[in-house]
Amino acid sequence: MQKNDIRCSFCGKTSREVESIIAGPDAYICNACVLSSVDILENNAAAFPAKKGKPRKFLTPPAIKKELDEFVVGQEEAKKTLAVAVYNHYKRVDSKQLADADDVEIEKSNVLLIGPTGTGKTLLARTLARILDVPFAIADATTLTEAGYVGDDVETILVHLLQNAEYNIQRAERGIVYIDEIDKIARKSDNVSITRDVSGEGVQQALLKILEGSIVGVPPKGGRKHPEQPLINVNTRDILFICGGAFEGLETIVARRIGKNPMGFGAEIQNLLEDREYMLTYTEPDDLLKFGLIPELIGRLPVLSVLHPITREGLMNILTQPRNALVKQFKKMFDLENVTLDFDHAALEAIVDLALKRGTGARALRSITERVMLNIMYHLPATPDVARCFITPETVLEGADPVYSYSDRKKSA
Ligand code: ADP
Repeated sequence: MQKNDIRCSFCGKTSREVESIIAGPDAYICNACVLSSVDILENNAAAFPAKKGKPRKFLTPPAIKKELDEFVVGQEEAKKTLAVAVYNHYKRVDSKQLADADDVEIEKSNVLLIGPTGTGKTLLARTLARILDVPFAIADATTLTEAGYVGDDVETILVHLLQNAEYNIQRAERGIVYIDEIDKIARKSDNVSITRDVSGEGVQQALLKILEGSIVGVPPKGGRKHPEQPLINVNTRDILFICGGAFEGLETIVARRIGKNPMGFGAEIQNLLEDREYMLTYTEPDDLLKFGLIPELIGRLPVLSVLHPITREGLMNILTQPRNALVKQFKKMFDLENVTLDFDHAALEAIVDLALKRGTGARALRSITERVMLNIMYHLPATPDVARCFITPETVLEGADPVYSYSDRKKSA
């Protein structure tokens, strides 16, 4: 074959029309097609992450944030912080061999999320794990006790992670753990010497052990450790821990510190306290110490982010916008019954108002919507020929029937 006749087997261009062509035994590919192939492969990998493979390490912080955006409304700063923390975490994990070679060891960046209940702390952690395709476990710090007391040992947290990793230890060792209510295990007083505070400090000490990275013997089925039980060793060095809590009262500690400081805002503490979330953005390790976290634990949670309370507009968005928003879920469920479900905007506003009254952030949205829909979903499958179901504000507020439209068959009957 003449050199001039060589054509890219993919786009058909001749060697003269492209910069370069690579020859295989029976085919050719030009530089442009190589690049588009890489794109296709990367997009496929993004859409269908390998189930058992490594996390998708090519996800950059903006790419991680973009995916978080699909599920979590608002909380821009927290998403950004988490995207960077997670990116750095897995980069550190994947380049461990390099780090071992020289003497610079990058320390783990566990995260502390401060924010009221129902603002998306758990959702953020869970969504991150899903985006990165790593196992995930949630623990409630208030159910943990230090070894020897009634309650769960901290190792239980790792049992859940192992279970969610289908007992694949390697996968579990790269997982994400969310520890909720970390503020509830604060020491009651910041004076260390008074009495030993079992419920708080002991648990913090126990948590420290797994947070800082060590090999922990985990009873495979959970429960208390006992001498005859075989243990699975899990190395927590590469597990990312995200801790969350509302930290009620922390704002007063921050305000006092800033208020006293002549270089500070020079405002009255009361004024400073008016904007709780704003105050919290100035949180420093010392404030957490005063709140009752032990210094070692604070040291192990170097990345801190504050979540904002959810506004009325935020609640409306949460109800309707995210990829798996509640309204979308119900619409889909009705679709399966061949019924179009629609909400009057005022009905959605009524749900939001009820949720605001409960003061539990977005948490209340689901239970309120479920309550509204229960009666309708009870009767619908037994009511033939309904084509459309329209939820009015009265349906939400007074339990009135929604407005039904019927298919032609029923109309003509
Ligand atoms: P937290 O851990 O802060 O108490 P969660 O993350 O458990 O709150 O959220 C409780 C419920 O509210 C979940 O169903 C979650 O889907 C929803 N939710 C809370 N915040 C958001 C948000 N910012 N975006 C979307 N949904 C949210």
